[in-house]
Amino acid sequence: MSNMLAQRMRRFLLAPVILLSIGLAATGCTTNAATGEQRFLLGYMSPQQQIALGEQALPELTQEYGGEVPSSDIQAYITQIGEKLAATTEADNPSLPWKFTLLNSPVINAFALPGGKVFVSRGLAEKLTNEAQLAGVLGHEIGHVTAEHIAERVQAQMGTQLLAQVLSAAAGSSDSAALQQMTDLIVGYGGQGYLLSFSRGQELEADKLGMRYMSRAGYDPVAQRQVMVILEKETGGARPPEIMSTHPYPENRIAQIDELLATKYADITGNPKYKLYPERYRKRFLLPISKIPEPKASGGQ
Ligand SMILES: [Zn+2]
Repeated sequence: MSNMLAQRMRRFLLAPVILLSIGLAATGCTTNAATGEQRFLLGYMSPQQQIALGEQALPELTQEYGGEVPSSDIQAYITQIGEKLAATTEADNPSLPWKFTLLNSPVINAFALPGGKVFVSRGLAEKLTNEAQLAGVLGHEIGHVTAEHIAERVQAQMGTQLLAQVLSAAAGSSDSAALQQMTDLIVGYGGQGYLLSFSRGQELEADKLGMRYMSRAGYDPVAQRQVMVILEKETGGARPPEIMSTHPYPENRIAQIDELLATKYADITGNPKYKLYPERYRKRFLLPISKIPEPKASGGQ
């Protein structure tokens, strides 16, 4: 067999293999452990890329919202609640590099970055009246992380060129131009980054997951409804709380929470085994935070 012929044969034999693998790459799916949803691998940010994006955006976003509340005791309390919830998440999610940050900002907001970075502002936490409500807020944000909602938005809405850059960036690389571009989209617009506001479906999913995690951690999921009532009251004020722009569709959310409380959580709601912890919240958070002055310039406006 001549060299030329051998080459042609090889090409001929390889062609179906190549076509097959392209086909697999284009139609290949991965299943999200928290939601059970399938998503196409094409344009999917790997868990490593999500972690790298979260770590890249963390310091900028923290800065944008007045930095951390300067109290290691209070941060430790928030972290303890967050870690208790994160431990109840699915598959490999408990081992994500979780970080729970209490932002020293009077605005009312909470958000999460991909890969396990969760934030709540003191402005929001100070409106809450028990630990289970805070667990509801953190659980909702954890739900955005485990359901990979930011990755979903990236996958659905970013330009193909940027996507290609992201996908070719080395996993774990924190200095790629693409990661910086995405960080800008998250932190930009006065902290109300484009990628940090969610669709109705994503909001409902995050609530569902939040209630799952909080109840697994021993909190009464009725507190999730209490949070919505507190936010509703704030919305009646002069300026709608910022959280309404990052987490829209409050009416749909309350309707779904009520339905879940009446069905899935009917046996749990009011069961004394599932707690609200108002006293512990007062002692470990509301009292000590009241002694820490708010910063003069408020971030995230
Ligand atoms: Zn949300």
